[in-house]
Amino acid sequence: MSFDLLITGGLVYDGSGRRPVKADLGLRDGRVAEIGHLRGSGGPSLDAGGLAVAPGFIDTHGHSDLSVVVNPVAESQVAQGITTEVFGHCGMSPFPLSERSAGAIFHWVKAATPGRPPFDWYGAQDYFKKVRRQGIGLNLVPLQGHLTARAEVVGEDDRPLTDDELARLLALIDEGLVAGCRGITSGVFYPPSRSADAAELAACARLMHSHPGAAVYTAHVRDQDDGIQEAVEEFLDVGRRAGVPVHVSHLGVGWRANRGKARRVVDRLAALRSEGFPVTADVLPYPNKGHFWAPRVVLPEEDYDFRKPWRAQAITLQIRLADPAFLEALVARLEAEPVCADAAKWGVRADEIWDAIVVEEARSALGREATGLTVADAAAKAGTTPARLFVGLLKDDGPDLSAVVVNTFPEDEEAVLACPFISFGTDSTATRVEDEGSPLELMQAHPRMYGTFPRVLGLLARDKGLLAVEEAVRRMTSLPASIYGLANRGTLKPGAWADVVVFDPAAVGENGTFRCPRAYPRGIECVLVNGVPVLQGGRFTGELPGRLLTRGVE
Ligand SMILES: [Zn+2]
Repeated sequence: MSFDLLITGGLVYDGSGRRPVKADLGLRDGRVAEIGHLRGSGGPSLDAGGLAVAPGFIDTHGHSDLSVVVNPVAESQVAQGITTEVFGHCGMSPFPLSERSAGAIFHWVKAATPGRPPFDWYGAQDYFKKVRRQGIGLNLVPLQGHLTARAEVVGEDDRPLTDDELARLLALIDEGLVAGCRGITSGVFYPPSRSADAAELAACARLMHSHPGAAVYTAHVRDQDDGIQEAVEEFLDVGRRAGVPVHVSHLGVGWRANRGKARRVVDRLAALRSEGFPVTADVLPYPNKGHFWAPRVVLPEEDYDFRKPWRAQAITLQIRLADPAFLEALVARLEAEPVCADAAKWGVRADEIWDAIVVEEARSALGREATGLTVADAAAKAGTTPARLFVGLLKDDGPDLSAVVVNTFPEDEEAVLACPFISFGTDSTATRVEDEGSPLELMQAHPRMYGTFPRVLGLLARDKGLLAVEEAVRRMTSLPASIYGLANRGTLKPGAWADVVVFDPAAVGENGTFRCPRAYPRGIECVLVNGVPVLQGGRFTGELPGRLLTRGVE
């Protein structure tokens, strides 16, 4: 019996969390046909001797909804071994898309896009049709966003809904579920959803009961810092009222004042699970939650516009800093008020900022002295003020400065990483290295756009031992498949879809840094989506074998 492809001699992680076993994997018609000693059967084969073979990774927190329309190959995702992405999170699905809803959800894109992007759909049905017609490089799992639908009803007017408006909102969300969304998502952190209360959210979540296969309700909770515990309780309350499984997106807590809270949230969720309450979460496995290249949170918008490529911004800034009057004015402003207005909006704390900015890498004489230190410590060492030291670094190092906001604490990160019901997310839009500055990169580039999954396997599991490799693989594969109800995904067994990653366990790791985030990872040797190679021998094949995994679609 021959196979379409035989992967021989690899160490097979089946996704269950069991220790890997050496075996051959025979693929046929896009699925795993057999696992065992299969050498000698005909057909093409791939030698995986010395390599690991695992189910394709599932990114449970992606935002590639718009970018896959323009860049369906999704290089930055498949290069990490991601074969399925769940999108639409934080309430922001790409439907219903109109002039009205776009204002609330895509203001970053709009601000950075001179022309109109080719977004020519309205509802979920139209969007799915478009994506199916053009093809995608990986499987996509759609969620219906509460925020987008609410924006379609009230525009940017963030206020409680009238009865008629609530009915309209429910109809729009129901439309997304009818079209095939696998659940709903909210982001009451963002306008115009801030005024949504638990009753409104529960009414939306209850709609899931009429749509078999609508598996989970995910949320960017109202407050991820000081008020995280209350915000998580509010979300749990919505789940309880609606009687649906809930999933906390990008769980993590920042700032010294909140030290220990992530662990308390994890303990709370674990206790609820032991009582049978269906709750899960995901994490972005980095010590800073946001896209915080430090100048972005410190400098006023007129001096640094994060919507433009940071390299260009940094060079412009460096030229302006050559003017002593500008430099002194900036130092004076930062001494008085060390974060920009935008940073405060994102929860960045002025009173801790110089302790939270770490100089990751800098090359000037001043910068070399500061590398590895917080700005506060580097300033103390240099006998100057943090504001003056920081402006000096911007002037001397310009685009070579990598200074990042590190606002989480190792014990909190470790509690989240060790938690068995927490999956992983990139919180990214699928992009590619060549696309620096593309308006579809909704956010400033962050190493997690290219390296989230290799980082977990390499740095966090293999090197630091924070979790076993087979456990990391389980939480990248069968755990997310079960959260989203994906049948025959996330596991390697006969009959399962052949979403497969072949990686080198000794080499796997991310190559991006905060200074140079745009780098494909190392050690991901081959990626198959539904049996078709999308990455092989270090090359993207350009194939588009991904499926839109709407309700009922395997
Ligand atoms: Zn979010």
